[in-house]
Amino acid sequence: MSAMLSAVHGPNTGASPWSPAAAGRESLDALLLDLELRTADDFGSVAMPARRAERVARRQGWTDLEKRAELVTGDVLGRLGRIAEQGRIAKSVNMWAEEHSDRYLLARSHRLLAIFYRCLGDAAEALTHAVRGVEYADAAPPLIRAGNLITLALVLDENGSHSQAQERFGAALEIATGHDAAPMVITILNNLAFTAYENDDVAAADALVARIREIAARHELALDGLYLDTMARISLMRGRHAEALEALRPVFDDPGGPLVTEADTLPECLLTAAEAYRCGGQPERARAALDEAARLAAERELAGIAARVHEARAELAATTGDFPAAYAQYRLFHAATEQLHDAQREMRAHAVQAVFETAEARRATEQFRQLALRDPLTGLYNRRHVDEQLEQLVATAMRAGTELSVALVDLDFFKRVNDTFSHGVGDQVLRQVAALLGTAVEEPALAARLGGEEFVLVLPDTDPATAAAFCEHLRETVRRHPWAELTGGLAVTASIGVTTYTGGTTSASTLLSLADRNLYAAKHAGRDRVVHDASRR
Ligand code: GH3
Ligand code: MG
Ligand code: MG
Repeated sequence: MSAMLSAVHGPNTGASPWSPAAAGRESLDALLLDLELRTADDFGSVAMPARRAERVARRQGWTDLEKRAELVTGDVLGRLGRIAEQGRIAKSVNMWAEEHSDRYLLARSHRLLAIFYRCLGDAAEALTHAVRGVEYADAAPPLIRAGNLITLALVLDENGSHSQAQERFGAALEIATGHDAAPMVITILNNLAFTAYENDDVAAADALVARIREIAARHELALDGLYLDTMARISLMRGRHAEALEALRPVFDDPGGPLVTEADTLPECLLTAAEAYRCGGQPERARAALDEAARLAAERELAGIAARVHEARAELAATTGDFPAAYAQYRLFHAATEQLHDAQREMRAHAVQAVFETAEARRATEQFRQLALRDPLTGLYNRRHVDEQLEQLVATAMRAGTELSVALVDLDFFKRVNDTFSHGVGDQVLRQVAALLGTAVEEPALAARLGGEEFVLVLPDTDPATAAAFCEHLRETVRRHPWAELTGGLAVTASIGVTTYTGGTTSASTLLSLADRNLYAAKHAGRDRVVHDASRR
């Protein structure tokens, strides 16, 4: 089994005690970076602070920081085997990041999606996300970038692109070494050692193990059980049974200690030890190790380990010449493997479903949000949206010292249309006018229906002359529209009152009432005309 991406323990150089009360945005940001960097090495200790950081960020309205904390939690959940929850979190944060063009969160969430799909065995999807994770990490802190490079390297390796993987591991190693991040250096070297082991490259694996030991010793870092397991397996590959057992000793000396970080650490090590005993001619000890591994696997519901215990028992029985027992264990191994695959298929389906539902729920929410901003008759924005937007646009104009024009458009004698024809025809006229207005404006300008036969145009960065000309053009467009098909000889015209903010202090309601005053003037002057600020002076 893979000992990749596991833990190294050393003097705790992590976050200092942190209290929400003292936390400004900056310190929460720093805490999160620390948690993000520590998750890979020491995920057990980041779960609680991540939850707390998430709460604080939410209370303060720092949504991006809240999302970062969520991702840390998602990472931890995945490591605890709660894959569906991990996928859901990764996906929802990724969509948020996309919506807000938040590169950092894009880098972090694509990385977590890569890990998620890697867990599901979907190598292609994992690669897509891992690549994006690295692309978006270009401006991220170096060690975050290195972490994303490691994820990409792991995924490349699984896709069979070994030289590409080596290149990324190399780049990550350079960053980690340059920043004196010894635990990360060891993580990378361990992954390289594991790859070498899997490729039967004994010499390379040996050299990497030696480097790991040297660095760990120099930094007084205790190597995690799963790293020791990799080393033991490399010793076994060389036929050095005693050396393998020696490598595992720190784990067995203190099975409840800090080197045993994951549920499968101890049973993994027991499986390796059993093989060392078997090859070293100590079948009784091998049997005892396997019994203990089986007990732990059952207790912790580790189906993969349980299956491998059967396999190891079969090999052990075959070594001692007990072929009926070997055969019986092989059958159990196959049955357990089948069952495991069924369970994995189910788990995958469940996890993919969770991600899909997250995306769907988001789309539905977005649709509802859009609906709530639209006027049902015309499809233009409604009053609520204008109220929200205008406040913001006014604030922006005042801050940036730019101009902002607002025009009110009111149809002339519209009651006549209703009275002469029908309310239905009136509705059609409103829809057509709305369409004319809607096509006349382009983002960031907006057109909305305020109610009845009254519309508003908001024109950011538009000076008085331009706004007046634009409104004049619009008035012409309305008047010239082929209304005859709908209203026979009855003309449809509009009066427009437009005002422009050119400096000083103002507000949305001030601008609307100035425009309304101009509109009133236009009606009084005979309708079918535009009145702007200058024409009233
Ligand atoms: P003025 O030139 O002074 O604006 O005259 P007007 O007739 O356009 O103004 P008034 O405000 O007196 O009448 C507006 C009419 O618009 C009254 C109402 O019947 C009609 N109206 C309001 N909302 C709707 C709607 O949703 N559909 C239709 N068909 N008519 C509407
Ligand atoms: Mg009217
Ligand atoms: Mg009106």
